[in-house]
Amino acid sequence: MLAGFIVFAVCYLLVIIYTSIFYHRALAHNALTLPKPVLNFIRFTGAPLTGIDPKAWVCMHRLHHLHSDTQKDPHSPQHTGFWYTFIKQHKSFERTILGLMRKLPRYTEIVSDIDFDVHWLNKKGYWYVPFVMHFIIGFLLWMTTQNPWIGLGYFFGMASHPIQGFLVNAFGHAVGYRNFDYPDHSTNNTLVAWFVLGEGFQNNHHMYPASPRFSMKSFEIDTGWFFVKLFSLLGIVKIKKENIPSKAEIEKGTITVGAY
Ligand SMILES: [Zn+2]
Ligand SMILES: [Zn+2]
Repeated sequence: MLAGFIVFAVCYLLVIIYTSIFYHRALAHNALTLPKPVLNFIRFTGAPLTGIDPKAWVCMHRLHHLHSDTQKDPHSPQHTGFWYTFIKQHKSFERTILGLMRKLPRYTEIVSDIDFDVHWLNKKGYWYVPFVMHFIIGFLLWMTTQNPWIGLGYFFGMASHPIQGFLVNAFGHAVGYRNFDYPDHSTNNTLVAWFVLGEGFQNNHHMYPASPRFSMKSFEIDTGWFFVKLFSLLGIVKIKKENIPSKAEIEKGTITVGAY
């Protein structure tokens, strides 16, 4: 069972690293710069690995920031109900992919700077292929190791994005404390933040969306920031340090750099 848990943790971490660091901080908010080979690697491997299309994710996420907690928000627990956010985020994602493929301006204009298309898996409607692939790999791992926990750990770790998304989208806009009086219902939830690489600090993030670091107060720990620093040392990402608000800005609650 321990081996299964370790496999689950590694796969879960891999998925949240893709979405939090590459899709979110780098692609959606330009808080990190990706060297061209890294960008290409993410755009080709992102959809098959995580089951989530990078361009569609960025599009839906920017719409979320633009219309945060209003009726136009693709996933707000304030309007859809807390638990229904789990379904709503999926429905909105499907609509976003269709909107991009039909080239509807509401969707295309907000990602005009993303110079690659929706992944062919999603274009052809094969969104389920990555999940089937992970299921088969998980089953093969079970058979070859004779340990069901390893197979289950692999499958549930690799298919964890909907749960991770729900934790951020539902808890991050309904349960927690607020550092900033930002005009939406975004909250900071420490427990959620630990499980989703700092993404639970939604109030901080909506206030300073362009900041590569989501923790703003000294008692907050952005677990994703450790990976950002590590990847920066390895040359995988470049941190836009100028986007991190100063202590004085945080104290006063002023915004100098922002996008979406
Ligand atoms: Zn949010
Ligand atoms: Zn964001």
